[in-house]
Amino acid sequence: MTQSQIGLIGLGTMGAMLALNIAEKGFPIAVWNRTTSVTHQFKAEAGMLAPMITPCETLADLVAAIAKPRAIILMVPAGQAVDDQITALRPLLDKDDLIIDAGNALFHDTNRRSADAVNGPRFLGIGVSGGEEGARHGPAIMGGGARADWDRVAPILNAIAAKYKGQPCADFMGPAGAGHFVKAVHNGIEYADMQMIAEVYGVMRDGMGMAAVEIAATFHAWNKGPLQSYLIEISAEVAAATDTHSGTPMLDMILDRAGQKGTGRWTVIEAQHLAATIPAIEAAVMARNLSSRLEERLAGEAIFGAAPQALNGALSLAQLEQAMIAGKILCYAQGFALISAASKAFDWPMPLPEIARVWREGCIIRSSMLNDMATALTEDPARNLMFAPFFAGLLTTSHPALRQVVAAAALNGLPMPALASGLAWFDMMRTGRSTANMIQAQRDFFGAHGFERIDGLADKHGPWVGHGI
Ligand code: NDP
Repeated sequence: MTQSQIGLIGLGTMGAMLALNIAEKGFPIAVWNRTTSVTHQFKAEAGMLAPMITPCETLADLVAAIAKPRAIILMVPAGQAVDDQITALRPLLDKDDLIIDAGNALFHDTNRRSADAVNGPRFLGIGVSGGEEGARHGPAIMGGGARADWDRVAPILNAIAAKYKGQPCADFMGPAGAGHFVKAVHNGIEYADMQMIAEVYGVMRDGMGMAAVEIAATFHAWNKGPLQSYLIEISAEVAAATDTHSGTPMLDMILDRAGQKGTGRWTVIEAQHLAATIPAIEAAVMARNLSSRLEERLAGEAIFGAAPQALNGALSLAQLEQAMIAGKILCYAQGFALISAASKAFDWPMPLPEIARVWREGCIIRSSMLNDMATALTEDPARNLMFAPFFAGLLTTSHPALRQVVAAAALNGLPMPALASGLAWFDMMRTGRSTANMIQAQRDFFGAHGFERIDGLADKHGPWVGHGI
């Protein structure tokens, strides 16, 4: 029997699809799943790809089925399950075998697992994006660990990855947890992009009284312009769908309580550690948290009454589209700035233009703007994306509409946390003389913290009497 070129553990939603993708690209694969019946069912349903797949009932069988030096992908839930699988595999593997965690690990865990792997077996952490469909037909892949380990499995990962004009959307992001860090930021941007779409959906539904089919048509039209992206495309599709039970728009039947698995939260926590400013992403994570507090929201509505919301023609769809364009640029700029901050703080040379290139296809945040972002980041990776001439030009045209949309929404009680935070960030980023002089004066007053003077004089305390009140 030919030996498999790679192994995979965890035949859930993502693992099963990745395994089929790998088999389809011509790499024989051995698979193992905690629940053995799933392994056999997977093989039985693999159709024409079945001959490429070796189902294994034990980890020892899996290890024996793979050609040396072995590479084994883990596609199990992040956290303890990954550690348990590594512990179970270690005694069965050789020093130069490679364990690849392809789940959504917290990058600190990947750092720890990479450090633990110095004496082998080796360890790579890769972020995979694209959901079930992406895993089956081409995800975006962000790798972290030792370059040599990435290079060893790159032929398989490049083959299964999505392609943008023939170029694989897979790349090495840097040492240790760099791949999982980039994947977390990807998900943070995804949270913000989704939230901003939900906010303009709210304006159309509640502020403009548009029917779901009209909203669908609007998203569909936007998807032909600068906003062209997977998330706008699927928003058009979900808005157009009809519930088979009630015959009403599907969206109207879905409870407004959004779930999350933690990558958005991790992104925000890490941004705080790095003092990176990602307010649109923070607002989106906040909005998901608040969405789940349905009882509290209903209590608030009972006390304060629902906001008026109807805009009475105050906004046009063209303004909404421009506001979305500005918001999208701002949230991506925040995400890339966070990666840039991490690059410096962790001494990881993360390749910003390549990250934009990897995200152009396969992943959830794929959009036509990412190609221009790759170009802008190639010109100058150290510059904030919003200052690149192409995006500065787009923002100059679109930010007045963002301001009008946020103002109209605020006046009419339409919540717009992500777009409003994006606007506040934009305004702060263009303010040469901010109000932090007041903060510094207050800090000096109560804590004698001192300040810098604009005239450069050395006196760093104010004339207030009694520092340390
Ligand atoms: P699923 O819940 O569909 O599948 C989980 C798989 O892991 C199953 O095969 C399950 O086996 C196995 N498993 C669960 N717990 C353990 C354990 N303690 N030890 C060994 N095996 C275990 O998850 P997904 O495929 O959706 O997700 C897998 C990983 O991929 C996660 O890290 C997720 O965050 C990440 N991811 C998911 C995406 C998605 O769109 N779903 C997108 C990108 C990444 P069993 O059959 O025995 O239960």
